[in-house]
Amino acid sequence: MGRILIVSMEDNLEKYKEVAREYEVGFEINDFYNPDVLADTRRQREIIHKYRECGLPDYFTMHGAFYDVILFSEDKEIVEVSKKRMITSMDIADEIGASAVVFHTNVNPFLGNESYLNGVVSRTVEFYKELLEKYRNINIYIENMFDDNPGVISEIAQRLCKYDNFGVCFDYAHASISSTPMREWIEALKGYIRHVHINDNDLKNDLHLQVGTGKIDWNEFKYYYENVFKDADVLIETNQPDDQVASFKYIRNLLESKESCYDIDKEKKPNAEEMLENIFYYMTELLEEKKFEKTLSMLNELGSNIVGAERTSFWYWDKKIKKYWTFAAMGNEKMMIDEKTGIVGKCISEDRTILCNDPYSMEEFNETVDEDTGYVTKSILCIPVKNSDGEVMGAFEALNKYDRHGENIPFVEEDIKRLSLVAAFGEKTIESYLLHQEAQSDELTGLRNRYAFYEYYNTKLSKKKGNKASVVMCDIDHFKNINDTYGHNVGDLVLREIAGIIRDNAGKDDLTVRWGGEEFIVILMGKNDDEAYDFAENLRKKVQSHTFDTGDVQFGVTMSFGVGLIDLENTVEINVKNVDEKLYKAKNTGRNKVVR
Ligand code: GH3
Ligand code: MG
Ligand code: MG
Repeated sequence: MGRILIVSMEDNLEKYKEVAREYEVGFEINDFYNPDVLADTRRQREIIHKYRECGLPDYFTMHGAFYDVILFSEDKEIVEVSKKRMITSMDIADEIGASAVVFHTNVNPFLGNESYLNGVVSRTVEFYKELLEKYRNINIYIENMFDDNPGVISEIAQRLCKYDNFGVCFDYAHASISSTPMREWIEALKGYIRHVHINDNDLKNDLHLQVGTGKIDWNEFKYYYENVFKDADVLIETNQPDDQVASFKYIRNLLESKESCYDIDKEKKPNAEEMLENIFYYMTELLEEKKFEKTLSMLNELGSNIVGAERTSFWYWDKKIKKYWTFAAMGNEKMMIDEKTGIVGKCISEDRTILCNDPYSMEEFNETVDEDTGYVTKSILCIPVKNSDGEVMGAFEALNKYDRHGENIPFVEEDIKRLSLVAAFGEKTIESYLLHQEAQSDELTGLRNRYAFYEYYNTKLSKKKGNKASVVMCDIDHFKNINDTYGHNVGDLVLREIAGIIRDNAGKDDLTVRWGGEEFIVILMGKNDDEAYDFAENLRKKVQSHTFDTGDVQFGVTMSFGVGLIDLENTVEINVKNVDEKLYKAKNTGRNKVVR
């Protein structure tokens, strides 16, 4: 264990001396950073004399020239004065027998450009080398002051650490008000810290409060002290002797207590505040969002954020085709796998949550998915997704958990609770989407129904004013004869096959609708009536050349078509009536034709 030190100053020396004697602490003399003293040899002599009279503790260090010392100034005179002040500090330390002198980096945190930072490092290193060689018996420590990150100081330390008398004075309080997490500071400086400054603050300003009265997490300090810099000296950097005593007691109790209250893993997880912020942000967005795909991708983002997963996806169990497919997988294309395969299959078929941090060791794990996608699965958390009747309809899967430093870490039980919250929201979203889809589909043909047509017209079309679209209405010729001749089931087969032909020929933005009975409508997005005519004519020929085969009988059918440009100024009813009249004309003038 290193030594504990307190600040001492000549104007209250007796009192500091008392504290040092009673609590067996050393001094860090704070009189010789004052520019007035450094510029005045007579004052220096007086102060040195006072310390000698009063008697110095066995161990003491000194704070050297202060924050107006800029070795890397563009102004050569400032550099000269800075060097002079530092040398004076060192000479005084030498004279009074201080074990170490502390100086600041004094880097300006707002000047982040590379040439400035390089200049700071190289000029500091250059002059420190001179000092370190000249004052071999005195340790020289460089302290983070305004530094917002450990970049400059760690670079300097790396270049000077070959000197036995060099070290970093880590000002814990300064680091606590920077924007860099403590963990990163420690990580960057851990090999160089020989001296530590502590005092408390509100995590915003450098307040030099009594230790334990501000917001610094002292249990975290204890953790780093014990694990990283337990041989370093610790200076209680408050000026009032009473505060020093209270701080000393606080820190002695803390360091002597056997208990360790700090959970280093805590830092790896998002804290409660961040988690709430995340949830509120997404919930607000979700309430505004009506589109299914977008809602689901937001739920994926939320899920990833609250458990720290690299990606999450909702899997849907498509019982008709015996596959699982992803609705909206973050960061990759839609995926499809055979039902009852993989970890997802285990989760869905056994209706249970699966948490696995070593998937390659699991029999069910489907390595081919990784091979195909080039993705490396390191951990999986998979939760069943159910409808409101409690039936499993899919799964919510999270892959690869990382901490905030990008290190791969295992999923834990707590993640199940968190992910379940998002999965529950997903269940409702997916279920209502599926119900909506079902309500808009024609069961026999799988095409959309009238209800879908009106919704599409009112949302997609009227919103896209200025965009053109055409409509094709068609009807099977003499369909009644087919029912009468071959029976109703064959009639159904014809309807399904015609629907297939229509769907295969329509574009992905087009809407294909079973209008009723043996009548269909196609909305062709972006097509004018010439193009719609060509589309209908092509469809007419395809139907005409298609052979319907029941196994027992083979036959053909024809269709009649009405085609028109959609006039968005008019109502949907008028637009439909317009093509309906053309279809009627086609029927009355010989059938198997397109009328525009
Ligand atoms: P046209 O050329 O004038 O259109 O003559 P059509 O016989 O096709 O027209 P009509 O309206 O006289 O008859 C349509 C028939 O379609 C009557 C009805 O039984 C049959 N139908 C309607 N819906 C279905 C269905 O879902 N399945 C089957 N098999 N038949 C249906
Ligand atoms: Mg300090
Ligand atoms: Mg008909």
